Amino acid sequence: MNPNSTLSLGPSEADLVQAADLLRAGQLVAFPTETVYGLGGSALMGETVAGIYAAKGRPSFNPLIAHVASVDAAKDLVQWSDLAARIAAAFWPGPLTLVLPLREGHGVSSLVTAGLPTLAVRVPAHPTAQRLLSLVGGPVAAPSANPSGRISPTTAAHVHHGLDGKIAAVVDDGPCGVGLESTIVGLAGDAPVLLRPGGLAVEEIETVLGQSLLDRDQGDPLTAPGQLLSHYAPNAAVRLMADAPQSNELYLGFGARDGDLNLSPSGNLAEAAANLFDCLHQLDARNIPIAVAPIPDHGLGHAINDRLRRAAAPRD
Ligand code: AMP
Ligand code: MG
Repeated sequence: MNPNSTLSLGPSEADLVQAADLLRAGQLVAFPTETVYGLGGSALMGETVAGIYAAKGRPSFNPLIAHVASVDAAKDLVQWSDLAARIAAAFWPGPLTLVLPLREGHGVSSLVTAGLPTLAVRVPAHPTAQRLLSLVGGPVAAPSANPSGRISPTTAAHVHHGLDGKIAAVVDDGPCGVGLESTIVGLAGDAPVLLRPGGLAVEEIETVLGQSLLDRDQGDPLTAPGQLLSHYAPNAAVRLMADAPQSNELYLGFGARDGDLNLSPSGNLAEAAANLFDCLHQLDARNIPIAVAPIPDHGLGHAINDRLRRAAAPRD
């Protein structure tokens, strides 16, 4: 994309219809929420989600928050609970993200969840975000709309400065009100866990719950995502940069190096990123050592290799 090719849109209905059309077509569109500007892409399309990482230049795959227009839309994606209902009734729409177990038939790309069985979901309160999400009619993955490592954008000008030429459009509706990322509460384990402090005060949540939130590191290690993430690895041994498999190994191919599965037969890194977690899960289910073809270490290849290195790291 050349630097002038990022459209500037506003909050008018006609512009939001255009933005929603772009999102439904798998394009990237930045939009305002009450927390910060989000870099949105359809959560249902793996290559689009890979494009979010590419546009941000993120060097690793962390799970992203899926934004939806309503509680009902959230319930289509995750397993709802009484606790979730209580918190959502009090704080949605708003700057609160809930992490819940994925529901059967959710359709969300495994690149959004970074291969986890849970999904972070939020109903933003910003009227423009609300309208846009209703028009899209499906979940939109949206991390902050800034290049990796830079500060979060609270105006459309910040977004243009960081991402012009890398995304299809920016919806400008003035500065964000909260300016802090959403508070994230994990509800996938036995007790609610504060996964990230943010724009909604913890005390307010605790008042509604009638109990205190556990700290991240007190949570159930199987459901506390930070831990799952750093340790996420197939059960079987993983060998990287393998030109060919040995006789006892499954082979995860890339490009012309074909195998039991191939991340991208055409050698496309966005496609490889979109397929990465599904491929690892599928091969892991067979419980045989896995050899992985070399992945070029540029662009999305950095994040793919980062994840593969973690999968291959020695563990206890
Ligand atoms: P952002 O990059 O601003 O969208 O932030 C996403 C945050 O949500 C990160 O801190 C993630 O670790 C966290 N997150 C997203 N999905 C999950 C999940 N399934 N489990 C736990 N944390 C999550
Ligand atoms: Mg961010």
